[in-house]
Amino acid sequence: MSTEELGYILKMPVPCPHCLQESEQMVAFLINNENFRCLECSGMVDLASEEWFAFRQKLSEALTALQRPAAAVTRYKGRISAQQRYRRRRLCERP
Ligand SMILES: [Zn+2]
Repeated sequence: MSTEELGYILKMPVPCPHCLQESEQMVAFLINNENFRCLECSGMVDLASEEWFAFRQKLSEALTALQRPAAAVTRYKGRISAQQRYRRRRLCERP
């Protein structure tokens, strides 16, 4: 599953600063857009503020991390085997 697919599946509610009505937005849309128009009041919801910018960056990083569980497991296994190799070597060196 690619980051984009996951981003189009996951949605989150975003409150409109003008009418306070929440609208469900796709995570991929929030990451890739600077603003959108509220369906209730047609007011502009700004996603380019400092807070939103930081949040969108975190969302993007989280999606990237989520789509690579296999790689993370492989890395973890590699570390374990390196530890085991080290322990085995120490056991051999012991007098
Ligand atoms: Zn609104």
